Amino acid sequence: MATGARDYYEVLGVSRDASQEEIKRAYRNLAAKYHPDRNKSPDAAEKFKEIQAAYDVLSDEQRRRQYDRYGHAAWDEMPSNGFSSGFGANPFADIFDIFFGESPTARGRTDVARGDDLREDVELTLEEVATGVTKTIRYARMETCEACQGTGAGAGSVDTCPQCHGRGQIRFTQTSLLGTFQTIQTCMRCRGTGKVIRDPCRHCNGTGRVRRTCERTVNIPAGVETGVRLRLVGEGDVGERGGPPGDLYLVIYVRDHEIFERRGSHIYCEVPVSITTATLGGTIEVPVLGGKETLKLEPGTQPGQEYVLPGKGLPELNGRRRGDQHVIITVQIPKQLTPEQRALLQQLAVTFGEKAEDHESRSILARLFGKH
Ligand SMILES: [Zn+2]
Ligand SMILES: [Zn+2]
Repeated sequence: MATGARDYYEVLGVSRDASQEEIKRAYRNLAAKYHPDRNKSPDAAEKFKEIQAAYDVLSDEQRRRQYDRYGHAAWDEMPSNGFSSGFGANPFADIFDIFFGESPTARGRTDVARGDDLREDVELTLEEVATGVTKTIRYARMETCEACQGTGAGAGSVDTCPQCHGRGQIRFTQTSLLGTFQTIQTCMRCRGTGKVIRDPCRHCNGTGRVRRTCERTVNIPAGVETGVRLRLVGEGDVGERGGPPGDLYLVIYVRDHEIFERRGSHIYCEVPVSITTATLGGTIEVPVLGGKETLKLEPGTQPGQEYVLPGKGLPELNGRRRGDQHVIITVQIPKQLTPEQRALLQQLAVTFGEKAEDHESRSILARLFGKH
């Protein structure tokens, strides 16, 4: 196949999400302009050929999908028998869209023979969200029946369509005052395939499809959240009798983390310290995603005081920024003391101006209420 060929959408001057109507219109205009019978410029024939090639691919939903995925290389790697549909050859499925909520409505005209979209849930840990991860997804989908190569016909039971004699199209000639017109229509009898089936294939009951478990390896980008959907174009069920495939939607579910709480791209955790560390300050170890960091506490750190580790949160999806980690300090009050610790604390209380025998909570309460 011609590598270095111009982009087909560019050739026809249409956007990548152009409808079949727009593609047809663009093709008609360009074909009329560059038809070698009318256009005598030296490169018209070449140009016309290019337009024709682009239209052949983009007007066929299935070939268009393949072109969207693989560009001009789409047909280089296709096995000549066509039935393994080329997708299995690609070890890394591409993620074309990342979005929240419902699937967008199918672009362009809905093709009756298009395969169904499928959905699979993917569970991730927060650590996987932080770095991005490669996952192998196993799921069942309808694939092309190899016994009949997707035609739905039993062995030897395909006949050339008697209506169109295998052309798949029927030409009508009309004569009017203005001259003779020819119109071409898709043959109704064989639905444009040029073939009719006598006995249906026994492996697929004539549908041309069989259910099979398959595997796809997917790169899940860093920063995804629960509810994000990744669309893998063309990885859903294949359509009946060679119809284009549906898409596979991967729905992300991020498991709760035992230490960290996520708020957007920021993460929060509580770290307990002793009363002495909180009071005197010091260096402590705090958990971060995928490891540990040291954090310097200032003397007199209060319960609930927040320290920020910049850039230690999660990357933003499709962004360059990274969130922060917030460390909230909790202070552990000892529930039991040795006689020695108790004596030391009582001495400390005296230095704070509290009476040594007065350290019980009821006397503190009494002072709060202004009594003695
Ligand atoms: Zn079959
Ligand atoms: Zn026919």
